[in-house]
Amino acid sequence: MRDVATKRAVVIGAGFGGIALAIRLQRAGVHTTLVEKRDKPGGRAYVWKEQGFTFDAGPTVITDPACLTELFDGTGSQLSDYVELMPVDPFYRLCWEDGASFDYNDDQAAMARQIAAFNPADVEGYNRFHQYSEDLYQEGYLKLGAVPFQSFWSMVKAAPELARLESWNSVHAMVARYVQDPHLRQAFSFHTLLVGGDPFKTSSVYALIHALERRGGVWFARGGTGALIGGLVKFFQDLGGDLHLNAPVERIDMQGDRAAGVVLEGGEVVPADMVASNADVVHTYDALLGQSARGRSKAKSLKSKRFSMSLFVLHFGTSKPQPQLAHHTICFGARYRELISEIFAGPTLPEDFSLYLHAPCATDPSMAPEGMSSHYVLSPVPHLGAADIDWAVKGPEYREKIIDYLEERYIPNLRRDLVTTRIWTPQDFKDDLNAHLGSAFSLEPILTQSAWFRPHNRDDVISNLYIVGAGTHPGAGIPGVVGSAKATAGLMLEQAAASSGKRAR
Ligand SMILES: Cc1cc2nc3c(=O)[nH]c(=O)nc-3n(C[C@H](O)[C@H](O)[C@H](O)COP(=O)(O)OP(=O)(O)OC[C@H]3O[C@@H](n4cnc5c(N)ncnc54)[C@H](O)[C@@H]3O)c2cc1C
Repeated sequence: MRDVATKRAVVIGAGFGGIALAIRLQRAGVHTTLVEKRDKPGGRAYVWKEQGFTFDAGPTVITDPACLTELFDGTGSQLSDYVELMPVDPFYRLCWEDGASFDYNDDQAAMARQIAAFNPADVEGYNRFHQYSEDLYQEGYLKLGAVPFQSFWSMVKAAPELARLESWNSVHAMVARYVQDPHLRQAFSFHTLLVGGDPFKTSSVYALIHALERRGGVWFARGGTGALIGGLVKFFQDLGGDLHLNAPVERIDMQGDRAAGVVLEGGEVVPADMVASNADVVHTYDALLGQSARGRSKAKSLKSKRFSMSLFVLHFGTSKPQPQLAHHTICFGARYRELISEIFAGPTLPEDFSLYLHAPCATDPSMAPEGMSSHYVLSPVPHLGAADIDWAVKGPEYREKIIDYLEERYIPNLRRDLVTTRIWTPQDFKDDLNAHLGSAFSLEPILTQSAWFRPHNRDDVISNLYIVGAGTHPGAGIPGVVGSAKATAGLMLEQAAASSGKRAR
């Protein structure tokens, strides 16, 4: 590669995608500045510390650690120099209201035993589903997960294999083909919700998550996901990169048809040869590029797309340990298909819920003061465009309802032992993260909004403007956005090398 050391890049937003991109650029020699509007990096992976409790805001299930260790390749450092990843077992405990439960991990014999207890015939079906998921993993993740889909042709080339794997079917439809028991159908299809997808609508390609977890395990960073973010940011700075916090970008500075840097609120200009945005895609085009015809037209087309649901998140600390809880529990409610459909379509907040309950002290007691326990519970809820809810009013009521439910089924004496609570609603996603409609995962991962149909890693018109993160290919989730950073970095380094070469000649 030609010398890129004279090039400067600015990355807007320090989410996982922005940080991973900044690391890849900086380690290749491009002088990179990461500008973040909030007081801490992380984006969805922000962290709060309160009364000795550590509350991770978002991602807690770390899969495919290889996508993170790869960021250190060729630098002489490694991820373990910055943060320790600890295995989580079981990966998840799945619980139903009828009393059934399932501990899901990579122990084939234990999985078969539990599946047989639900339905002996499903053991063979599960094995075939696992093989199907493996095939998807090879095609959809290893081959295509970090490839930029800049042209329609690039997608046509991938189509035959994805057609063989019936990617037009939904995850749930494919799971239902292999296993019959309704609990198991939920157990092997709910994963799409973790990346913002409705299991009944999301392309079956996303069934690859099962193989991803079985192969790579589920991990937790000692000290929480915030510690992982802290480690990655420290690594970026050790490489010589600059991080500006409390630095909201007001607009991308356009000179002619090229991006010349960014203008911060307050007027400071950060000049650059290349600009990448990790901020929400609609915010990027609508607010940061709203002064240009390109920004306005792209924002208009993006606003007509379907966006993922939002989340209601309740953080709480208890004065007692909670040894009865696994690290990750999925608390399925009585309804599945109908509930999910109401969450995605609105128009109101469903009365019932299914929850994800986080109990990080099961793996790392340092997440709470000694003898206490730190938690969050999240409930998927409609985004602000699907249900017009005043969360300032509804949020506290919803919190009480969830606390009652948890006390009845999962955490005896929860109210008595509560030390602190905080809530995070769709309105916070919108206000604090600039998330369009308060969506938790950006564009919904349906087939017609995937790969080439998703916003491209390089803008089609502004040739030195790049996009990274959940709104681009391959989509949300840590492996997804870190994969998007790899795709975007490849394009940016190509451009940096090409223009360095031109100037040298
Ligand atoms: C509650 C929750 C739980 C989740 N759990 C998991 C999980 O367990 N495992 C998993 O893999 N994934 C999980 N996810 C999904 C995953 O967290 C996200 O897909 C991923 O972190 C998004 O990263 P991103 O790179 O797109 O950037 P984001 O995290 O969206 O960050 C974008 C950044 O841009 C900044 N920004 C916005 N506008 C501006 C501006 N104008 N100027 C400067 N900065 C700006 C924002 O402040 C933010 O820091 C979860 C998500 C949520 C919300």
